[in-house]
Amino acid sequence: MHIDARTLPNGSLLEGDLCIIGAGAAGISMALEWIGSWRKVLLLEGGGLEYEAATQDLYRGENVGLPYYPLQAARLHYFGGTTGHWAGFCSTLDPIDFERRDWVPHSGWPIRRAALDPFYARAQPVLELGPYEYAASSWQQRDPSLVPLPLDPGVAWTKMWQFSTPTRFGTRYRDAIVGAPNVHLYTHANVCELDPNESLTSVAGLRVRTLDGKEHTARAAHYVLACCSIQNARLLLASNRRAPAGLGNAHDVVGRYFMEHLEMPGGHLVLANPEAANTKMYAIQFGVTKARGELALSAAAQREQRILNATVSLAPGAPDEEAKSTFQQWTPELVEAIREWIAHGRVGPPITSPLDRSRHPTRTHASHSAPNATRWGCRARDWSGG
Ligand SMILES: Cc1cc2nc3c(=O)[nH]c(=O)nc-3n(C[C@H](O)[C@H](O)[C@H](O)COP(=O)(O)OP(=O)(O)OC[C@H]3O[C@@H](n4cnc5c(N)ncnc54)[C@H](O)[C@@H]3O)c2cc1C
Repeated sequence: MHIDARTLPNGSLLEGDLCIIGAGAAGISMALEWIGSWRKVLLLEGGGLEYEAATQDLYRGENVGLPYYPLQAARLHYFGGTTGHWAGFCSTLDPIDFERRDWVPHSGWPIRRAALDPFYARAQPVLELGPYEYAASSWQQRDPSLVPLPLDPGVAWTKMWQFSTPTRFGTRYRDAIVGAPNVHLYTHANVCELDPNESLTSVAGLRVRTLDGKEHTARAAHYVLACCSIQNARLLLASNRRAPAGLGNAHDVVGRYFMEHLEMPGGHLVLANPEAANTKMYAIQFGVTKARGELALSAAAQREQRILNATVSLAPGAPDEEAKSTFQQWTPELVEAIREWIAHGRVGPPITSPLDRSRHPTRTHASHSAPNATRWGCRARDWSGG
C-alpha cells in the first residue's frame, strides 16, 4: 500500500509493528521479507517514487575532510535509494576482515565472517545474482574455460565477484511493495528526529516531516534505520533534544569510521607465457559477465606484511599503455552507452569497453582497490573496517 505523506492531514499518527526508515537497498530488502506476515510494516521514505530535485537537495552537505564527491550527487534520495545508480559489483567479506589486527587501529568485529553466510545467501536472489558460490573452483566447474591463474595459495588467491543486473530496487520491487497489504509505504515522509523515552533506552516515536511543512508522528514496537550510512549517523546526531551528543552516541563514535573503497591504478602484470595463459576468468563485459575473478592477497601475506585486505582487477593492456583504474577506463560516454544498451533490453551486440577486449593480454593493468563493508570490484579494497 502506498500513501503520499503530503496528502495526510497535518499531525497524523502512523502506527505499526515495525517501522523501517528509508526505502533503499536495505529498507526494501527488509520490507520484502515481511510481505504476507500479519505484522504491519511502516516503510518511511523521504523521497517520492521518482527522483525530485528538491528532495535530493536535502542530501547536500559540507565536506571538511579529504576531498570527496559532492554529497548530494553520490547518493540518491527517493524510493530505491542509491541502487538507482549503483554498479552492481558484489562480493563477500573475508574472515580476516573481522579479526582484530594489531596493525589496524580499531579492528575486530564482535561477529565472525561465517555469521553472515545465511544472510549473504538470502541477499543473492534479491540482488538478482547467481548462486551463493564465491569459490573460483565452483565457477570453473560451471564453465571449464574459466581457469584461475596458478597462484601460490600462501601468497595470493582468486577472489570471485558477481554482478547484479544491476538491480534498481525502486523499479524492480515497486509493485511488490506497493501491492503488499501489510506494508504501508509512506513517500515524502522525511524522518527528522528519533524521539527517545525518558531513560534514553528506547525510541518512543519519530518526527516525520514533508517538504510542504506538514509534521506527522510514527510509532512502532521496533524501528530500523536504513537511511544509508551518512544519513543514519546524521539522524542519530540530530536527535539531540534529550541526548545532547545525539542518540546512541555516549562514546562519541556515531558518524566516525566513514569508509570508502579506494580505487587506483596498481601497475602492470607481465605474463611470462601469454599464449599459454588463460585470463578469461578475470575479464569483464559490463552487463554480460555474471562473475569474474580478481587477485587477492592471502591472510598470511597480509599478516606478514601488516597490510590491509584488497583485490586487484586485471584489464588487458598494451606494453606502452599507461595503467588505468577501472573507473578511469569508464569514460562518461562509455557509461552512457552501456546504460542505453541495458535500458533498451540489451538488444544487439554489447558495448565494448577497454576492459573487455577479446584479445588475451600480454600485459595486464592491475587496478588495486579497497572497499567499504560489502562491496565493489576492480579496485584496491581495504576490508579493514572498524
Ligand atoms: C555511483 C555508485 C555506484 C555504486 N556501486 C556499487 C557496487 O557496484 N556495489 C556495491 O555493493 N555498492 C555500490 N554502491 C553503494 C550502494 O549503492 C550502497 O551501499 C547501497 O545503496 C546502500 O544501501 P542503503 O539501503 O544503506 O542506502 P540507500 O540505497 O541509499 O537507501 C537509503 C534510503 O533512505 C532514504 N532516506 C534517507 N534519509 C531519510 C530520512 N531521513 N527519512 C526517510 N527516508 C530517508 C533515501 O531516500 C533512500 O531511499 C554504489 C554507490 C554509488 C554512489
